[in-house]
Amino acid sequence: MDGYGPALDVARGFADRWLASLPTRPVGVPADPEALRERLGDLPDDGSDAVGVLEDLTAALEPGLVASGGPRYFGFVTGGSLPVALAADWVVSATDQDAAVAVMSPGAAVVEEVAGRWALELLGLPRDAAVGFATGAQTANIACLAAARHALLAAAGWDVEAEGLAGAPAVTVLLGAGAHATVVQALKLLGFGSRHAVRVPVDGQGRMRPAALGAALEAVPGPVLVCAQAGQVNTGACDPLDGIAAVLAGRDDTWLHVDGAFGLWAAASTTRRHLVAGADRADSWAVDGHKWLNVPYDSALAVVRDRAAMVRALSVSSPYLPLGELDPSARTLENSRRPRGVPVYAALRALGRAGVADLVDRCCDLAARAADRFAAGGVEVVNDVVLNQVLLRVPGVDVADLARAVAVDGTCWVGTTVWEEVPALRFSVSNWSTSAEDVDRSVDRILALRDQLVGQPVSARGAAGPASR
Ligand SMILES: *Cc1c(COP(=O)(O)O)cnc(C)c1O
Repeated sequence: MDGYGPALDVARGFADRWLASLPTRPVGVPADPEALRERLGDLPDDGSDAVGVLEDLTAALEPGLVASGGPRYFGFVTGGSLPVALAADWVVSATDQDAAVAVMSPGAAVVEEVAGRWALELLGLPRDAAVGFATGAQTANIACLAAARHALLAAAGWDVEAEGLAGAPAVTVLLGAGAHATVVQALKLLGFGSRHAVRVPVDGQGRMRPAALGAALEAVPGPVLVCAQAGQVNTGACDPLDGIAAVLAGRDDTWLHVDGAFGLWAAASTTRRHLVAGADRADSWAVDGHKWLNVPYDSALAVVRDRAAMVRALSVSSPYLPLGELDPSARTLENSRRPRGVPVYAALRALGRAGVADLVDRCCDLAARAADRFAAGGVEVVNDVVLNQVLLRVPGVDVADLARAVAVDGTCWVGTTVWEEVPALRFSVSNWSTSAEDVDRSVDRILALRDQLVGQPVSARGAAGPASR
């Protein structure tokens, strides 16, 4: 073994080439999994040197890589990586700290404490809330709802951590009809079940209707868990959190959770903050770092107002593991864990309040620009473009065919969805490096590909049928 340097040099060289190619390389290339497997080979009997492994690995990997961190990837809600956050992530890997308990890495624990406090300030959340750095909004939702389960059942005289759910008082779960699938997944894993959750009607943008929530609550005895949302994955719309909190204000047996994976970052923008007004009245919040804050995977924050509930729900205890206040794993699902808060700290420090606001505003402005250009090109913009999401119906073509043509073309990448039972395209702007020119070029290319497809028969694979009606 030659120490760390030679292998890291290969990684650095590859990273430099990859990152430099992001603005120009085809964004998403359809790759053949079998060809990728073949290049990776079989388990060798004997080892080989790190440099050769890194060279072979990067060469084998590259044909299957998508430029999702680049400026013209508009699929899902996918941030890129700020240079400072990527570099901080390398520091995390190089230092190999276990941020389970503070004694294993006081540095990591304190950086996470500071990053968490800064995030609370920026997002306008209660300053004394507990923050756990999770792997994504999925696990942040689970962490938050585990705290909710603890608190709601403790108030009803039930120790769920000790007794489990069999025989426990019933908790009624209400969530918007447009809630994210990961909230439903969290409910499944926490024993609430997915089928019993009451779906509260939403408006045409996917926002929960407070009056409908009020009506649903009338029939319901406590305890009640309400899952609201900031940033609907199709429309970007935020539930009226002030109105929802007002409906719940009269009862003390409720817990309000906000899945704000990307939308909660609107709180950092003076011009979009109103969209999440009332967020601070909730009890818990999940927000991603790897989406709009543009830190590398995997990064999210689970925030809980009631610190004791979070720690009771999540901390592992063992004679050799006396968890204290500062120990990160008392607020996360993981035990051994990388200090995910370090790249978050780096991003927040590099951007400052103004920089995060600018990142949010720029993406929203570019989404509005894309919407205008699509509309001028005869594409129907289905949503009110209030945030960074643009939802599109394309008369005359199957959107699955169009998305496939866009992927093969390589200029940009967009995904499909189904909105109110009609297939649609989803165009999300969430990368710091996306420019107006990137947006214009991408929209023009999508429109040109649409023109080529119009009138062509729907492909056998695109079974969804025509998108317009
Ligand atoms: C992306 C997203 C999630 C899931 O986040 P992950 O980071 O992928 O786990 C949850 N809720 C909403 C609204 C999202 O946009």
